Amino acid sequence: MTSTELPTPRLRPRADDAPGTGGLVDRYGRVATDLRVSLTDRCNLRCTYCMPPEGLAWLPKVEVLTDDEVARLVRIGVEQLGIREVRFTGGEPLLRPGLVGIVAAATALSPRPEVSLTTNGIGLTRVAPALAAAGLDRINVSLDTLDRGRFQQLAHRDRLADVLAGLAAAQRAGLTPVKVNAVLMRGINEIDAVPLLDFCLEHGYQLRFIEQMPLDAHHAWTRGEMVTAEDILTRLSQAHDLAPDVEERGSAPAERWLVDGGPATVGVIASVTRSFCGACDRTRLTADGQVRNCLFAREESDLRTPLREGATDEELADRWRVATLGKLPGHGIDDPSFLQPARPMSAIGG
Ligand code: SAM
Ligand code: SF4
Repeated sequence: MTSTELPTPRLRPRADDAPGTGGLVDRYGRVATDLRVSLTDRCNLRCTYCMPPEGLAWLPKVEVLTDDEVARLVRIGVEQLGIREVRFTGGEPLLRPGLVGIVAAATALSPRPEVSLTTNGIGLTRVAPALAAAGLDRINVSLDTLDRGRFQQLAHRDRLADVLAGLAAAQRAGLTPVKVNAVLMRGINEIDAVPLLDFCLEHGYQLRFIEQMPLDAHHAWTRGEMVTAEDILTRLSQAHDLAPDVEERGSAPAERWLVDGGPATVGVIASVTRSFCGACDRTRLTADGQVRNCLFAREESDLRTPLREGATDEELADRWRVATLGKLPGHGIDDPSFLQPARPMSAIGG
């Protein structure tokens, strides 16, 4: 069985994955140990594949979890539900004033989870040292082009210089190896594949390309128009020798390639064309306190209401377990019946 195939579902949960005990197990036996927490749905960029140029109706402040509420749910995840990795994301997490305190609360937990951040990098020059001091283990900075005009076309803001300065600041602060996430769009920044790799090789950043997924606010994504992993690898191979990195991939979504014999690598996350749902170990918490068992889930489970009504840690943990049991075997993007989730990527947390 390959990592993307799933065993037959257990229609009735077993005692060891029933609410009340244990970790976040679904009916297919997958265990979620990697928690993605969205800290805000707001952003200072408008990347075409994620947010419309006019922005979105932001969540009302009262609906967004407070810093203490986020810290509590992360603690429950780690202490009661077996979460071992916590990644803060958004929207743009650097827009969250309490970010450093939230990171510090997560890194103080026992057992100590790995704590990481996905950001567009704008503002890192200011906050990278404090994040490092708070114990942040890893950082991913999104960068889709090195061309100022194309950056502005793609992100609808003239902020390339801030992103590049943010990357350098992360490296100076010791948040290494700094990873770079890039999404390529046909006819816009496909031509940036090789320049991005060269730039990352030169600066010691680890580059990973992510296939564009149907999570844009305009629902304009089409399978035929997306730049596939194969397209990306073909382009890169015209300038560099790529050989599969034999290191165990496990549940990591990126397939890695040694560049020009290594040790530098480039990753490709083929979420659409080579989906890895069978090995998925993720669970998600939105900025307004909803658990999503999948990026593409069409249902969410509300933790904020019970939390604010006085639920105990155990009760909240139980709700989270139940939310996990209903996880579907795969995202079904290739299925004709596939329906894009109501929220775009920026509101779910990438
Ligand atoms: N604002 C931060 C950033 O851009 O890194 C964090 C949130 S963003 C939603 C997280 C990641 O999701 C980014 O690397 C972004 O490129 C990626 N992303 C957003 N929309 C996407 C889409 N439709 N398909 C694939 N990746 C997407
Ligand atoms: Fe903002 Fe990140 Fe979405 Fe770009 S990908 S619009 S930086 S949340």
